[in-house]
Amino acid sequence: MRPPRTADPLPAPSQLAADVAVVGGGPVGCVAALAFARAGARVCLIDAAQSSRLAGEWLHPTAAGALAELGVELPAAGVEHAPGRGFAIFPKGCEPIVLPYVDGELGIGCQHHLLVGALRNAIAARPEIAVLSGCRAVEVARGRVTAVTVDRARTVRVAAETIVGADGRQSVVRQALGYSGAARPVSYMVGVLIEPSALPFAEYGNVLLGGPGPVLAFRVGPNRARVCIDVPADRVAWVRNPTELLAAYRPTLPAALADAIADALAAEPPSVAANQLLRRRRYGRAGVALVGDAVGHCHPLCAVGMSVGFLDAVTLAGSRSVEEYAAARRLAGRVPELLSTGLYDLFARTDAGSTELRDAVYHLWRTSAAARRDTMRLLAVRETRRCALGVTFARLLAAASRRVVAGVFDRPLSRTVATVAGFGSWAGWFARESLTDRAR
Ligand SMILES: Cc1cc2nc3c(=O)[nH]c(=O)nc-3n(C[C@H](O)[C@H](O)[C@H](O)COP(=O)(O)OP(=O)(O)OC[C@H]3O[C@@H](n4cnc5c(N)ncnc54)[C@H](O)[C@@H]3O)c2cc1C
Repeated sequence: MRPPRTADPLPAPSQLAADVAVVGGGPVGCVAALAFARAGARVCLIDAAQSSRLAGEWLHPTAAGALAELGVELPAAGVEHAPGRGFAIFPKGCEPIVLPYVDGELGIGCQHHLLVGALRNAIAARPEIAVLSGCRAVEVARGRVTAVTVDRARTVRVAAETIVGADGRQSVVRQALGYSGAARPVSYMVGVLIEPSALPFAEYGNVLLGGPGPVLAFRVGPNRARVCIDVPADRVAWVRNPTELLAAYRPTLPAALADAIADALAAEPPSVAANQLLRRRRYGRAGVALVGDAVGHCHPLCAVGMSVGFLDAVTLAGSRSVEEYAAARRLAGRVPELLSTGLYDLFARTDAGSTELRDAVYHLWRTSAAARRDTMRLLAVRETRRCALGVTFARLLAAASRRVVAGVFDRPLSRTVATVAGFGSWAGWFARESLTDRAR
């Protein structure tokens, strides 16, 4: 007897075999495919679609170096991009602070879709990598991925010893591993493209503070700059209201930059993305690994997402097992995430302890070359040891405490008490966040 027809029958699957199946062809999936191919593996890259969403466009030198090592040179490939020397921080109402990368290293600004396009071109030149483009992985089990074309006309089964989940925030591989994917909403990002002449520091990532959320502005090409405006979650209505958005941020922006943003918002609707936090805790097991945003993701203020993801991919390709990879990345992946979350909160919060700590950070950056260097090594994901972040944090607390003691007679006692309580709460946060899951 014939089986009853299902509502949406799928045709008989075709089969493919590879050493490694990478699910997701975003920046990290592409780097994973290239890194495994370089290590001699036959790779199958399965990707749902080329996306043009608002996402990572600043690569720290760590990420730019990882690309160069894999033979992806943006200048040589003729891809529009711009070098970045570090960050220029604009505290509210004060002179900017310039934080260059250590040893003259350079980062790269490049529009997201151009970056992914360059990686896909590099993949197309590698015969060891088979690409299933326009295919969505729908089922993942140890040694096997089932993918269907986006129109569901074709099913492909890929058999592979190692499966890599590089499928971003809504990872199906993560779900197949049984890990929770419940991310915490943090804020929204509104993105526009402007002329780079409006940037205060053309060769740096400009970080403008003091508004409702930080604003990042950096070149992504000789004639183009990206502006990302962080909108707090409780002000989501601004995302669709350019007039109110601009009114809220203009007072903290240089006039030329504010005018350029106004022109861009008037010309077309901005790109919008949600910023979320999902802690990087679990990296996979038994032949199934996660890399990049599929492991976890944090606020993009520190622009560490792709650097961390590329390090995941390269480490995985050089590991003997998923367990070995997971152990290495659990140690190294936590510091950039803590730094991003901590700095975002420090810049956003208005309580007495946070305000004093923030002023101490600015003071340290202005007065100490060592503090600037340590910060940039952490930001650039060159330094990933928890003890290094711990030392930096302890120095900051000590500097902030000295400032409080020095000014104790100049301010009301209640303010001093609130400030010290605030320091206690930050110290508690740091201890909790940096020490939990240490041994896992
Ligand atoms: C507004 C914003 C700004 C940011 N700025 C920066 C920055 O300046 N620098 C930085 O380093 N990071 C930044 N980030 C973070 C950065 O974008 C991410 O860390 C990075 O894109 C992660 O890459 P990924 O390849 O892991 O995931 P993704 O980029 O999400 O790519 C996942 C890929 O998997 C595919 N896919 C999904 N599901 C399936 C499936 N079932 N089957 C097959 N394919 C699938 C998707 O089509 C996609 O191609 C920013 C993020 C945001 C939101």
